[in-house]
Amino acid sequence: MDIFNDYSLQKLNTFGLNVTAKHFVELSSVEQIAELIKSNVFQNEDHLIIGDGSNILFTKDFNGLVIKANITGIHVVKEDKNSFFVKAGAGVEWQDLVMSCVKANFGGIENLSLIPGTVGAAPIQNIGAYGVELKNSMEALEAYDLQNGGKRYFLNRECNFGYRDSIFKNELKDKFIITNVVFRLSKIPTLNTEYGKIQEVLNTFEKKDPTIQDVSNAIVKIRQEKLPDPKKIGNAGSFFKNPIVPYELLNALKKSFPDMPSFDQPENYVKIPAAWLIDKCNFKGMTYNGAAVHSDQPLVLINKENANGQDIVHLSQLIQQKIKNEFGILLETEVRII
Ligand SMILES: Cc1cc2nc3c(=O)[nH]c(=O)nc-3n(C[C@H](O)[C@H](O)[C@H](O)COP(=O)(O)OP(=O)(O)OC[C@H]3O[C@@H](n4cnc5c(N)ncnc54)[C@H](O)[C@@H]3O)c2cc1C
Repeated sequence: MDIFNDYSLQKLNTFGLNVTAKHFVELSSVEQIAELIKSNVFQNEDHLIIGDGSNILFTKDFNGLVIKANITGIHVVKEDKNSFFVKAGAGVEWQDLVMSCVKANFGGIENLSLIPGTVGAAPIQNIGAYGVELKNSMEALEAYDLQNGGKRYFLNRECNFGYRDSIFKNELKDKFIITNVVFRLSKIPTLNTEYGKIQEVLNTFEKKDPTIQDVSNAIVKIRQEKLPDPKKIGNAGSFFKNPIVPYELLNALKKSFPDMPSFDQPENYVKIPAAWLIDKCNFKGMTYNGAAVHSDQPLVLINKENANGQDIVHLSQLIQQKIKNEFGILLETEVRII
């Protein structure tokens, strides 16, 4: 286990920001985690766990220890009449897990195709896309307790999953390293094609009986057309969460904005697409220093030209302020700002 000093994080954040960590360590086993937490550097420094940095915005160098959990492996650990139970290490690339499950015809996570990042980070914000969330197929996860030492298992219901939310963003924030995640995947997959343009793109494939591989291909196609590739242009996907507001507020707003879209939520709440709000305030393409609002996807902030983290935060605050003034809605960031 090597601990590096003044380690560049430029390749470990998809905004491509040129920041460093005072210390950096990559761990490939639970034993190494146990060893790390006894070390002086862990005991004396702040720490941050990182995957691929596709949901993190650094506003400055990290003055502490950055820990990358790089436990690998994808295995079927159990099966019953209807399901395969697949265990994947925290360091596995999410898309590699999706592709191997799709190839084996294990159904459940195909709608989450092409989401960047690692398996270990996926439960943190309960990743979601195209009508599916991680919580729909996650059985349990294994984690290591950084405060008290020792392994702990969390069942799905113990993770308090919500919309882009979990216990690991709240009371257990930075307290556990997720080491492995177990998924319950269907032996007889049912296709989930109602959301967005999936069905439309599937139709163009002209397949009589589409499979989860076709659904995955359709989603990859849609995402590649829609979202900027972080390898070419720095970004972290959706910068803000879609706000969930009381139905009464929507009704009041509809008097001034009759075309405001919304999606019903439990208990008289509605979700309003943040992209619509941002677009309505004419932010598409707006720049601040090197930071910009993507000109097609206003929910995505980009590092257009050598922006630093502060520039991106400043732009995000301009958006939040305007949306608050215009609609009385506070946009929460989905990206973790450090
Ligand atoms: C182009 C693009 C598109 C995206 N599309 C989507 C989308 O459709 N849906 C969606 O939900 N997200 C999306 N995202 C966001 C991102 O892909 C996810 O949040 C992903 O799960 C982050 O993985 P990561 O490994 O990069 O985590 P990081 O960004 O490195 O970390 C994210 C958080 O998880 C914590 N963390 C990381 N690993 C561990 C671990 N092993 N144990 C404990 N804590 C850990 C970190 O401390 C941090 O708080 C997108 C991002 C980009 C760049």
